[in-house]
Amino acid sequence: MRILKFGGTSVGSAERMRSVASLIQGDEPKIVVLSAMSGTTNALVQIAETLYQNKNAEANALIDALHDKYKQVVEELYTTAEKKKQANDLLTNHFDHLRAFTRDLFTVHEERAVLAQGELLSTALFQFFLEENGIPSVLLPALNFMKIDENEEPDAAYIAKQLQVELAKYPDATLFITQGYICRNAFGEIDNLKRGGSDYSASLIGAAADADEIQIWTDIDGMHNNDPRIVKGTYPIAQLSFDEAAELAYFGAKILHPSSVTPAKQKNIPVRLLNTMEPEARGTTISAERIGGSIKAVAAKDGITAIKIKSGRMLLAYGFLRSVFEVFERYKTPIDMITTSEVAVSLTIDNDRFLDEIVAELEKFGQVEVDRDQTIVCVVGDFIAKNSGSGLRIFQALKDIPLRMISFGGSRSNISVLIDTGNKVEALTKLNEGIFERTTPNA
Ligand code: ADP
Ligand code: ASP
Ligand code: MG
Repeated sequence: MRILKFGGTSVGSAERMRSVASLIQGDEPKIVVLSAMSGTTNALVQIAETLYQNKNAEANALIDALHDKYKQVVEELYTTAEKKKQANDLLTNHFDHLRAFTRDLFTVHEERAVLAQGELLSTALFQFFLEENGIPSVLLPALNFMKIDENEEPDAAYIAKQLQVELAKYPDATLFITQGYICRNAFGEIDNLKRGGSDYSASLIGAAADADEIQIWTDIDGMHNNDPRIVKGTYPIAQLSFDEAAELAYFGAKILHPSSVTPAKQKNIPVRLLNTMEPEARGTTISAERIGGSIKAVAAKDGITAIKIKSGRMLLAYGFLRSVFEVFERYKTPIDMITTSEVAVSLTIDNDRFLDEIVAELEKFGQVEVDRDQTIVCVVGDFIAKNSGSGLRIFQALKDIPLRMISFGGSRSNISVLIDTGNKVEALTKLNEGIFERTTPNA
């Protein structure tokens, strides 16, 4: 079994959907995971925001505009009047469902149902397209098997069991289409795996189905050595270990959802990042293999808050760090980076929802300082001891940029620094110029 996930741009127009249909040909069994068409989830977020504010006329105008966009897709995608009618009826159902939200109380539950419409639409439209072209396939509802628990973590055992139940209904089928991103939560309600979550869906489905390979088809030829949206002259990396890819995804490489490498790593399933616009390009293979000896890539994660706790008295006494960590645990707020000295502990979080409560509790231990608008810049590679010199190259490149924290030694594949977000572009550019040995694409 193979899992093939196509992102928003890859299914973003009638023409792109046609390309996807040609990329999934072949007899070997496949589960194809689709995102919403590009722009749709953003539009749904905007519709939800408008509904929260009770601006119903504005919400209706946004819904109508999105509906019109989809009518155009239907016009371009299908050739027969029958399929056009079937698809337009489907659109009417989904968009009337959205319009109904303007008449009800709007809460987080309704918001999640709104956000789910993008993937429900893209998969249904694609399934109709396959039907029109005589390609046998089955549309699997992700809401029947994809589930998160009360801690918002995927319930791997449930997913594996229910996916088998769904697949077993179609013993002769080899091509399955399903939605990325959407799931049910512990209360059985519609929920999602957070923005960019279709990658995570693909990896969870791959692990659940014991797949041979997970392919993530997107709009770029693999994981680049630096953020191509910010830095010129980046190049794709042919091979990454699971740990290296997980660090890059977690620390901001948008091509992969932050958690999406973990399920594949646990089942040792190779992940390939491929380009829908350039299917012949080599892309990136992520596997257990670790090619040592070099700095591979840089990623940056914005929206970081740094918290420093200063205490002359208790600090570094045993039990102190545990008390600090317990505060974060109580508020279910993960810590990304941590550094200690004799008189202070600094750590970072990316979720500041409970920041005020956390600070109030930490103040019991000492003086607390908070710095917002920070960015973690994470350099990934194989930093085993004998490769001395990597640190020097990194800090030489960053010599003009004030560093708030430095973290090294937590794993063999990551050196991270914390900087003001205002210095991010300069930091990524300087690192690009200063730390990579290779300068040509795919060298
Ligand atoms: P999809 O809709 O297919 O999921 P995304 O927009 O989520 O696509 O991810 C692909 C985008 O990620 C690329 O177009 C690129 O701009 C961005 N990106 C950020 N960092 C990297 C990186 N290190 N390598 C490749 N792409 C990256
Ligand atoms: N459609 C969702 C989003 O835009 C999920 C995804 O594309 O992966 O975030
Ligand atoms: Mg994505």
